[in-house]
Amino acid sequence: MGIVVQKYGGSSLSDADAIKRVARRITEAKKAGNDVVVAVSAMGDSTDELLDLAAQVSPLPPARELDMLLTAGERISMALVAMAISDLGFTARSFTGSQAGVITDSVHGKAKIIDVTPGRIRGAIDEGHIVIVAGFQGVSQATKEITTLGRGGTDTTAVALAAALEADVCEIYTDVDGVFTADPRIVPSARKLDTVTYEEMLELAASGAKVLHLRSVEYARRHNIPIHVRSSFSTLEGTTVTGSINDPAREGSMEAPIIAGVAHDRSEAKITVVGVPDKVGEAAAIFTALADAQINIDMIVQNVSAAATNLTDISFTLPHSDGQTAMTTLHGLKNKVGFESLLYDEKIGKISLIGAGMRSHPGISAKFFTAMAEAGVNIGMISTSEIRISVIVEEDDVDAAVQAAHTAFDLDADEVEAVVYGGTGR
Ligand code: ASP
Ligand code: MG
Repeated sequence: MGIVVQKYGGSSLSDADAIKRVARRITEAKKAGNDVVVAVSAMGDSTDELLDLAAQVSPLPPARELDMLLTAGERISMALVAMAISDLGFTARSFTGSQAGVITDSVHGKAKIIDVTPGRIRGAIDEGHIVIVAGFQGVSQATKEITTLGRGGTDTTAVALAAALEADVCEIYTDVDGVFTADPRIVPSARKLDTVTYEEMLELAASGAKVLHLRSVEYARRHNIPIHVRSSFSTLEGTTVTGSINDPAREGSMEAPIIAGVAHDRSEAKITVVGVPDKVGEAAAIFTALADAQINIDMIVQNVSAAATNLTDISFTLPHSDGQTAMTTLHGLKNKVGFESLLYDEKIGKISLIGAGMRSHPGISAKFFTAMAEAGVNIGMISTSEIRISVIVEEDDVDAAVQAAHTAFDLDADEVEAVVYGGTGR
């Protein structure tokens, strides 16, 4: 008997009927002869609702208590799903992340999984039960505190369980039919990808495609677990994330698409440190302080210094949820670094074009920038990787920029393929 690991997101668990529907789907996998382990997210938008509630009680809630609060959302789902399964004549056992052996580091709000010790899960499987695990949470090895893995972290719980249990595949059930060439909410003619490599999916996820949590893709690549992203509302085949852009078989294949997709991200902000003295060690001081504050930096641009003043500007992007912390940290550095002022801008968006084929096809940047220009989109910052070109644009230009890039690279489907089944997109 094989082990199947499935994950159901919040939009697939929005109310009692949805939970019963998911329970039926889970028992079908069991009836087909598999051992089934399921990671569940909190119902609907309940994580956001808990966050709103916390904000009403306290402007800056302690991170430990916020994790305690948020993990409750997944506990509600796990128990209800287990109840619905037992109603169908099967037995299920629900476990919190801690009970399931999900061991993390001690960073509240964005903990990393460092080990999975699935003893209790194996025990329950051996007794014939379906296992339901609360997603997005674990327990810190060092502090023994309850931690959360960051928004969207249930995907990572599922992949980590699949790796620990040596499952053949991890199925991620969501509210769209798979991974699309762009967000169907912006580009209705987006096309579903049948397969996408780990590297391309990593870039897509890091660039704002919300269909999979970035860490889940990193984890899957490291442990070589294929991820099948599919809809819980239909029985269509979804998208399989597997294989490397460096597979020799793929290199020669004429079918491998040049561009996998266009991603966008409205969750970043831009900080500009104005008037930084152009001398050794200034950038090190700035970015060390931000790193010590646990802030992840994305794009960085430093201008040449003006000859007259010998001062330069450094701009970078970061999650806007970290904006306040970053500004406070930098203000504290003002005398040490000797910069003039700080600028903060939240009204930005990032557009990224991603595809392994960029490595071997000239003219991709030219075509991309031409498409931006023809759409009247002004570009604020640019960064690239081997298989990605990203630009920062004004927030109001995001939709037009995504549509223009999608069309310029012939990604539009002839007929509308994308169905958004659920979710509020929140
Ligand atoms: N419930 C959490 C969130 O909304 C985790 C997840 O859905 O994966 O981010
Ligand atoms: Mg998700």
